[in-house]
Amino acid sequence: MTNPLYDALFGKHAERDTPFLQMTDGTVITHAAFLRLAAQYAHALVQMGVAPGDRVAVQIAKTPQALAVYAACVQAGMVFLPLNTAYTAKEIAYFVQDSGARVVLCDAAAAQALEPVAHANGAQLETLDADGGGSFARRARDLPQVFETQARGIDDLAAFLYTSGTTGRSKGAMLSQGNLLSNGETLAQEWRFTAEDRLIHALPIFHTHGLFVATNVSLLAGGVILFLPKFDLDAILGLMPQATAMMGVPTYYTRLLDDARFTRELAGHMRLFVSGSAPLLAETHVRFEDRTGHRILERYGMTETNMSTSNPYDGARRAGTVGRPLPGVELKITHAETGATLPQGEIGQIEVRGANVFQGYWQMPEKTAQELRPDGFFITGDLGQIDADGYVTIVGRNKDLIISGGLNIYPKEIELILDEHNGVLESAVIGVPHPDFGESVVGVLVASGQEALDLEGIMRDLSGSLAGFKQPKKLVVLPELPRNTMGKVQKNALRAQFAGLFDGG
Ligand code: AMP
Repeated sequence: MTNPLYDALFGKHAERDTPFLQMTDGTVITHAAFLRLAAQYAHALVQMGVAPGDRVAVQIAKTPQALAVYAACVQAGMVFLPLNTAYTAKEIAYFVQDSGARVVLCDAAAAQALEPVAHANGAQLETLDADGGGSFARRARDLPQVFETQARGIDDLAAFLYTSGTTGRSKGAMLSQGNLLSNGETLAQEWRFTAEDRLIHALPIFHTHGLFVATNVSLLAGGVILFLPKFDLDAILGLMPQATAMMGVPTYYTRLLDDARFTRELAGHMRLFVSGSAPLLAETHVRFEDRTGHRILERYGMTETNMSTSNPYDGARRAGTVGRPLPGVELKITHAETGATLPQGEIGQIEVRGANVFQGYWQMPEKTAQELRPDGFFITGDLGQIDADGYVTIVGRNKDLIISGGLNIYPKEIELILDEHNGVLESAVIGVPHPDFGESVVGVLVASGQEALDLEGIMRDLSGSLAGFKQPKKLVVLPELPRNTMGKVQKNALRAQFAGLFDGG
């Protein structure tokens, strides 16, 4: 094979005039048509002087054309660098500068703001709009529809995904062909994807979940992607009777459950619902099964590692757990200070090793060395435990760990108890600076209805179920929790908001 990732994802479909993408208006794009467009894009990039190994930064809407840029980069051996569409020009400046991207592709609406950014960093700017038009499309329009695939090996880089950078600077995770290919193949196999599948795809494609999990798995199996530009409840409900699978973040599933049109009958044609990127409440898992008869399959992964664990396709999908390590992935729980492996059942940091684990952070050897051990284990920054059957439970992020009076407190334990209270929709437990304890526990609650929450009553109940040092010193109520596009609760925003709560004692 000359280019393993291209051949497995795209090349093998080049002659297939079968549907690849089905748009919400019913328009279908075949594999062959898609690859003709990708070939034109590859020619356009080469014409612009982009060479194998160069980075192509892309901040454009979720369109078939955006996916074709991804395919073009893989075929031409360039490094695809997708960027969150919400990033401002100032943020993009960092990514362009840090990555040394040769090209910046953006929507026409952003061109004015990004032109100076590209210029300052010696990159060329082209536009690719949500309707498929723009200067890049014009450049590619008359170029050949066949491109000679650039030879690559599994250790060559295929993509950079920047971490969300909630602590410190965002880091460019370097992902090789082998990282993406091995993980995609494992997932397609574990989740039984075939050419018969029709996947509801509402996730963004600048993130590992929508790009490497949903898109690559579907491409490897040769199925159809029901391609939504973004999460759209009505459209998803409309597509479900003709779909077989869906991948989403937990909020997608709670929004479906909040809609009375989402019934067992509507989900009758589906064979699989996958959740990840943020914790799925056990309660959502149970409600989902009650409503539809389907048990959501929860998996766990991250930008740097692709997917590391999954609940089984056949066998027990356990609510509140992220399942077992995937085939080929080693996972261990270690002590944060000593790095020693902890006995089964204890909480510690999650480390993973396998072909799924990235190549390091771009131009950050010290950061890489801090998190990627010489023996190949990556320190994920997540805290978890493994039960006797090998199922992993995520207890939180290392940085979310609260240390109060020298004692470790895992927010998840308290959140689970708070969530059980009548009238509480969801909760987030954070540590905020406290003059005596260093940090003190604060519970942020969201009410499920209009009625005011009985905070004193909840405090009283907590004192019966939690050791004193774990009990929140304060409960506060917000209309909703701050979340990013992947459904993750932004605890850093909450910590900032409530940082002064205990000022003055
Ligand atoms: P990202 O790199 O943006 O994909 O974020 C990865 C992080 O999301 C992980 O390190 C976890 O903290 C979190 N995450 C992903 N999947 C799950 C899951 N199923 N349950 C809990 N947290 C998850």
